[in-house]
Amino acid sequence: MRRGTNFDTGNWKTRCVMCSGGDGAGDMNKTIAIIGAGMAGLMAARALRERGASVVVLEKSRGVGGRMATKRVGTAVFDQGAQFFTVRDAAMESWLADWERSGVAAKWPGEVNERWTGRPGMTAVAKRLSDGLDIKREHKVTAAMRVADGWELMIEGHGLMRVERLVSTAPVPQTLALLVAGGVALKETLAAELGRVSYHPCLALLVVLDGASAVPVEGVAIKQGPLRWVADNAKKGISPEGQGAVTLLATPAFSAEHYGKTESEVAELLVPAAREWLGSAGVVSVALHRWRYSEPVTTWAERCVWLPEISLGLAGDAFGGPRVEGAALSGLALAARIADTLEHEESAD
Ligand SMILES: Cc1cc2nc3c(=O)[nH]c(=O)nc-3n(C[C@H](O)[C@H](O)[C@H](O)COP(=O)(O)OP(=O)(O)OC[C@H]3O[C@@H](n4cnc5c(N)ncnc54)[C@H](O)[C@@H]3O)c2cc1C
Repeated sequence: MRRGTNFDTGNWKTRCVMCSGGDGAGDMNKTIAIIGAGMAGLMAARALRERGASVVVLEKSRGVGGRMATKRVGTAVFDQGAQFFTVRDAAMESWLADWERSGVAAKWPGEVNERWTGRPGMTAVAKRLSDGLDIKREHKVTAAMRVADGWELMIEGHGLMRVERLVSTAPVPQTLALLVAGGVALKETLAAELGRVSYHPCLALLVVLDGASAVPVEGVAIKQGPLRWVADNAKKGISPEGQGAVTLLATPAFSAEHYGKTESEVAELLVPAAREWLGSAGVVSVALHRWRYSEPVTTWAERCVWLPEISLGLAGDAFGGPRVEGAALSGLALAARIADTLEHEESAD
């Protein structure tokens, strides 16, 4: 396989079985479908495209980034998922250089090491990665069916898409549900191991203040009580100065216990717990985001799962480690495995 070659020809050809909602068949003519435009999916897509593959990314949300989510509340801007990312692995350095150069990443202000932030917000990095990729937003895959020459995907409101290879970067329980819905049975041991992958929930409360907060510029990792993290997005440099925009992240135990509570019930418990950090400023508004799959409880032994016999790959932070960087490395690892398979098949033709 050569760099820059496209697989949309010959035996790489895929076709749209049934398209509606404005998707033309040409649009669907892709070799590899990647479920999820979070860090793992976007890195896998970029790396596969770099090696000549034809890729379509299917994302159920309107935006990209997954758990690297940035939300605007009035004029305030919040990172409501990942707060920062690390770059410890050498494989990430050239990516970071691009993000810094293009202004979508900068160091967290103050005296903290190893913390990179997205500018203006974590989603900016995902948007940069999305440039030039074929990403179909608001395309929720509801079932994945195995067919003779690949996969058929049922996409809510858009019908069926047929592709040769499938990558899922959705949280593992959601990926397994798609396979079950499509009648796909994985080998027993693998299915059992994947069935044991679980995630902590996380309640994220976004608090808009009427003045400056008392949160230190570097944020606070908290060891006791219902909160595990407090940061002021104004001091972080992504929200207008002078008006506190504070992200409160609850501990896994608190989040599990209070997951079903309403926004105001959660605020009644978390705002008093954060009083010391909110200072004398008054609370203007709160918004609650519930992360059902916030971070994997344990990490898989390998960075990805690639099953060439059924052309199915799994990536994400459950495989690479419970961080943005882990998800990125998982996506890259899977892309390398798939590209090697494609090259091997091509040279055997
Ligand atoms: C509150 C919180 C704080 C965090 N803080 C940090 C931090 O400070 N530093 C750090 O490094 N990491 C942090 N993390 C973890 C980090 O965000 C994740 O490890 C990483 O972003 C996971 O990326 P991913 O691509 O594996 O998954 P995701 O980002 O979850 O991407 C999966 C994507 O798949 C899409 N999807 C799912 N199902 C379907 C479907 N059926 N059809 C189509 N699309 C689908 C989803 O919408 C999503 O966009 C935090 C996470 C949370 C929730």
